[in-house]
Amino acid sequence: MSRKVNVGKVSLGGRNPVRIVGMLKTPSKEIKKLVKEAQLLEREGAEIIRIAFKEKKDAQIAKILKREITTPLVADIHFNWKLALLAMDAGLEGIRLNPLNIYKKNKIKEIITEAKNRKVAVRVGVNSGGFKKEFNSPLDLAREMTKIASDYVKILEEEGFSDIIVSLKTSEVRSTVLANRLFSQRFNYPLQLGVTATGPYLEGIVKSSLGVGILLFQGLGDALRVSLTESSREEIRVAKRILQFLGLRNFFPEIISCPTCGRCKVDLIKIVEKFKKEIEKIDEFRLPVKIAIMGCIVNGPGEAYQADIGLAFGEKRGAIFKKNRIIKITKENQAIKDLLEKVRNAL
Ligand code: SF4
Repeated sequence: MSRKVNVGKVSLGGRNPVRIVGMLKTPSKEIKKLVKEAQLLEREGAEIIRIAFKEKKDAQIAKILKREITTPLVADIHFNWKLALLAMDAGLEGIRLNPLNIYKKNKIKEIITEAKNRKVAVRVGVNSGGFKKEFNSPLDLAREMTKIASDYVKILEEEGFSDIIVSLKTSEVRSTVLANRLFSQRFNYPLQLGVTATGPYLEGIVKSSLGVGILLFQGLGDALRVSLTESSREEIRVAKRILQFLGLRNFFPEIISCPTCGRCKVDLIKIVEKFKKEIEKIDEFRLPVKIAIMGCIVNGPGEAYQADIGLAFGEKRGAIFKKNRIIKITKENQAIKDLLEKVRNAL
């Protein structure tokens, strides 16, 4: 089991749930928009929020953000080690250091002394994008990343520092999995998982789900940051689904729906899409209830039985089941309304 590390009020590692990390995408000069984005991420379920810390004046912006949200903030630092000191001085609960661009031992030690005094967590974040060379195989890349992270962690350990989180991310599934596995064989610091620079939306979701899914299923990973070429809100939504579908956390109602086929006599794709939108609007439905919506009676009753509540369609009509009992017969155009009502009553 990994060791426990606190990022402000949020603990990760040990027996803690896998934490969801969000990332602010708004340029820091657009302060109002940035605050709104942070508040949205907080509402959506981010438990730690990362902010790019690029220059001195970001310290002021971080201070403003800290007044508006309660979620711990982590400063993402590159190149300029002094920014790490400024971020900690601004009250940020965590910093991310990139071993590929902050590597002078005396500077690292200065940062760590300050982190120790202020009880700030340090994420050692190795990203394949920082390498300026080619690798022969995913394993070669994973080995190199593990070596760099390990050497860096040892410098931190020499200073008696252990509030360490490690991330090893590449833009590819196999090397990400291998690097995290290799690192976890040597150290038990919490791992923040993620596949980075994943590409367009669909590709990003698939790569992320595979990369972090394999690791999480094997019991590795203490925090998750899904990286998509999409909004930061969408990243949180995908992260929550990955964790829920692996049975690690529960956030929202799960819709089980069939792919439809020649047996289906209703427009199931539209019905499911509409039902999903309706249920997402209702706050009390942010409960882990399973709802099956099936196109016909072949698998309908069976899926409905395994769900908490289900709807199986026939010819323009549907039967709403609660476990193996039919509780209502509904018409196609009434089905969404009736199902919502029955789900509400079943909660
Ligand atoms: Fe086809 Fe019925 Fe299966 Fe849906 S549940 S895919 S409609 S057989």
